[in-house]
Amino acid sequence: MTNQEFDLHHLWHPYTSLTRPLPCYQVERASGVYLELADGRRLVDGMSSWWACLHGYNVPELNAAATGQLEKMSHVMFGGLTHDPAIQLCRALGQVLPAGLDRFFLADSGSVSVEVALKMAIQYWHGRGTPKTRFAALSRGYHGDTFGAMSVCDPNGGMHSLYKGFLPEHIFVPTPQSPFGGELDPADLQALEAVLAEHHRELAALILEPVVQGAGGMRFYHPDYLKGARELCDRYEVLLIADEIATGFGRTGRLFACEWAGIRPDIMCIGKALTGGYMTMAATITTQAVADTICNGPAGVLMHGPTFMANPLACAVALESLRLLLASPWQERIQAIEDQLKRELAPAQDLPRVAEVRVLGAIGVIEMKEPLAVAEVQKQLVELGVWIRPFGKLFYVMPPYIIKPDELSRLTSAMKVIAGQ
Ligand code: PMP
Repeated sequence: MTNQEFDLHHLWHPYTSLTRPLPCYQVERASGVYLELADGRRLVDGMSSWWACLHGYNVPELNAAATGQLEKMSHVMFGGLTHDPAIQLCRALGQVLPAGLDRFFLADSGSVSVEVALKMAIQYWHGRGTPKTRFAALSRGYHGDTFGAMSVCDPNGGMHSLYKGFLPEHIFVPTPQSPFGGELDPADLQALEAVLAEHHRELAALILEPVVQGAGGMRFYHPDYLKGARELCDRYEVLLIADEIATGFGRTGRLFACEWAGIRPDIMCIGKALTGGYMTMAATITTQAVADTICNGPAGVLMHGPTFMANPLACAVALESLRLLLASPWQERIQAIEDQLKRELAPAQDLPRVAEVRVLGAIGVIEMKEPLAVAEVQKQLVELGVWIRPFGKLFYVMPPYIIKPDELSRLTSAMKVIAGQ
């Protein structure tokens, strides 16, 4: 059995079958904006390894942070011990997060940080003496693959029906229709208010992805919806959880997407680009008021504590990644990527198989009328020298911020070739 056959038949890849596996391309190394395949082909990366590698790959500063920390310690338990990488990272994050978000839980993945956020919300209401255990979430939302996170993902995807009976049943709000950059349709907030008015006594929190709904449809909605959601959550005494796992660290043109609406959620999740895409780590951050209420509640503690909590290696790289981002002209870079994506993807709008083209920050989306055949399209894209992974009808790029104009043009040209077939 060749290594490739072993991989195909023994290793699960995300959302795939082991009996009818999709082809995979073996990467030998990655550097800057390029992935180098085992056969020597170099591909321009359009995915940032799912929103994460914003500085590209094999970044000297991040390598130095990792090796420097490795020589001190790669990991120690966080129970009863602490360390400088965690302390410095959280201090630095506190400087850039919406003011008042300064109580940190360092979790091991995005999905886990969502679980922690849900636990925080439930424990908060225990602390208030009025237990509430249900959640409201937006249709077309996506928050991860663990059970709690899945339960607040869009209910019409396969995941809910598959695990029915085990998955808690929450309440879904129609996805906002008001587009980013367009007019706010009052019906969007009326629909949210109707849900909150009816269910607020049982709702611990509303969870949403601010401004950009990612895996559930790559939809960009009006920031005033988010502002209105904040006001409604205050009025109906429901916590607001912002899942910034995909949108955080500049992707939408603001450091955090909540900034478009000038709001502070009660709980925020960050992940993915937190470590510059080097390794897995996420964080759930809340306010002093929420933290105090949780800790004055019946449990007295927040009930979560994973083995690899606050992994020092990940913290050291995350701290350096944040420093590198803030020291770079990230706003200009993202603006330039946005302008170029808008310019170069606009002609795709007229293609007969294309439903819509939309761009926000360093995210460019061609929504097709019908789903793309992933395996075939992927092969063609690799032949065109780019790495873009379509998902259903969604054909999108979110490249590393260091991408150069000619490299970005290779991505957009390849997209137009495929969309135009
Ligand atoms: N929330 C959002 C908005 C995401 O995009 C993702 C990852 N696709 C997650 C949560 C889950 O993160 P992870 O894959 O690290 O568990």
